Amino acid sequence: MDKYLILINKYNLLDEDTINKIYDGVIEANEGGIEYDGSLHRSEKLNGEVLSNFNQLRDELSKKGYNFFAESGFRGYNDQINLWFSRMIIASIDEYGHPLIKPAKYLVERLIAHLCIDDYPNWYKGNPIKKLEGILSVIGRTTEYDLENVRKKVEIEAAPPGASEHHLGMTFDIGLIDENGKNCDLTKPQYLKAAHDFINLAPDYGFILRYPNGKNVFTGCKEEIWHYRYVGNPEIAHDIMDNGLTLEEYHIAHTIMNNQELFEQLENGNLNYDILIPIIGEDATKMIKQNPDLLNDVRNYIKLKYENSKTR
Ligand SMILES: [Zn+2]
Repeated sequence: MDKYLILINKYNLLDEDTINKIYDGVIEANEGGIEYDGSLHRSEKLNGEVLSNFNQLRDELSKKGYNFFAESGFRGYNDQINLWFSRMIIASIDEYGHPLIKPAKYLVERLIAHLCIDDYPNWYKGNPIKKLEGILSVIGRTTEYDLENVRKKVEIEAAPPGASEHHLGMTFDIGLIDENGKNCDLTKPQYLKAAHDFINLAPDYGFILRYPNGKNVFTGCKEEIWHYRYVGNPEIAHDIMDNGLTLEEYHIAHTIMNNQELFEQLENGNLNYDILIPIIGEDATKMIKQNPDLLNDVRNYIKLKYENSKTR
């Protein structure tokens, strides 16, 4: 498998050793990290090739008057554990916490994080849900916790350790700085045009929008208009983006195209949907079985590729 097309999601985890090796490579490529100047001082780490492409894209967009920057580059395994715990604590307080501490939940979360953060990695490898129940019982409960339910909600936005694209060093979140030096919220309507100008130009530099709107069946994530992934070259990035695919659908399409039997099954309308399970998990596969139209973008893509190969 092309290293640029590695699929990483809840069903395709990277192990801790691999992530540590990627980190060593990333550090070497960046000689210790990148500093972003201006009103925001951030030190982020990215794969060198990815960074150089991002810089070219950013320079091109600066001609249109935009001041984009990249943040949340590489994230380590333990960083993701800390993020996961902190999101779980906040979401649990939201869902089950005492009404009186709700307004101060970030303070509570920070206090807990401060007290416990060194132990998070060990807890995660043990029984993280049980540990969380223990912490939360200290700050008061109003009802029985259903932390598996909280986990489902949290993991739509924050991947569990090993499942974050940020482990790859080929992913970053974009930010935009306005003329007053302020960080803009790209989800606000007034920045929609800026976000779209970025999306339209990104494939020319090898980047795809990783979590587009309306595709969470495949990605398992909510829309994130700030999160980009490098896929190796502009041709593949356009192949994915221009056909309205996610990386998961691209993997599904190529699994089918590389296997004559599956290809014929798709043609005859009797595809064995179980081949989707290793890519997107059982729940999403079940949804697609019930509503096969969800695979239309994949079908159209395969049809297009088949027709192109005939006319060549
Ligand atoms: Zn991100």
